Parts: sequence; C-alpha cells; structure tokens
Amino acid sequence: MQDTHVPALARLDSALLAALQSAAADAQASGVNMHVTSGWRSAAYQQRLFDEAVVKYGSMNEASKWVHSPSLSKHVSGQAVDIGPTDADDWLIQHGNDYGLCQTYANEMWHFELATTPGGECPPQLSNPSDERAEG
Ligand SMILES: [Zn+2]
Repeated sequence: MQDTHVPALARLDSALLAALQSAAADAQASGVNMHVTSGWRSAAYQQRLFDEAVVKYGSMNEASKWVHSPSLSKHVSGQAVDIGPTDADDWLIQHGNDYGLCQTYANEMWHFELATTPGGECPPQLSNPSDERAEG
C-alpha cells in the first residue's frame, strides 16, 4: 500500500485503512498489486467531480448515478476507496469480505467500503450511487 501520510489515505477511516492494508498484503502474496486510486476526498473536490459529471451526463439526475454529491459521498467521510487496477478489483470482489470489504455499487467494480464484519456476508449491492437510501 502506498504512503499512508498522503491525505487520501491518512484521512480514511482507520478501520477501513487497516482492512485494506491487510487485504493488499494478501493480494500481493498471490501476485496481485493493489492500489488506492481514490480515497478520502475533500468536499470541494467531490463537488468538482459532481459538477463535471453533470456536464458529462447532461443532468444532475444522470450524474448522481455515477458520482455522489459531497453530502452523500462516502469518500468525503473517509469511508470508501476506489481500487485499481482491474485484477485487484477482481481479487477484492472475490476475497474482500474476508476483511469486511464490499463492493457496494453494481456499476462501480472499483468502489469498496467496509460494509460487513471480517468473514461476514456483504450486503446486497445497490445498482448505482443514486440508489442510496441511508441518509435523507
Ligand atoms: Zn468510489
């Protein structure tokens, strides 16, 4: 795992970071390199991503299927990571629940959250971020 002093990792939830580090070490042992492509994000940065998505997808409604607004993003609260490259995503989809890590959106194979207890069962995936019902 990369330098944990950079804000993207340093400001992650410590339990999420610990789970990731242990998963990354085991993935490495089976020849899979795992990288956090996006971790913690500031609200301003998340807003920029959302604004860009509105331009790209043509409406806030469409954009919200791909990018959360800052108030909903688990990246802003330090509770989500995007993982790459694809073979690391595949590895984590297969083994993530051993560490409590789950792919939470069906359309984002790279996005993982600490969503169960180690060895537990991952909750059913939401089809996309606009399905989020947790917060009002
Ligand atoms: Zn993500």
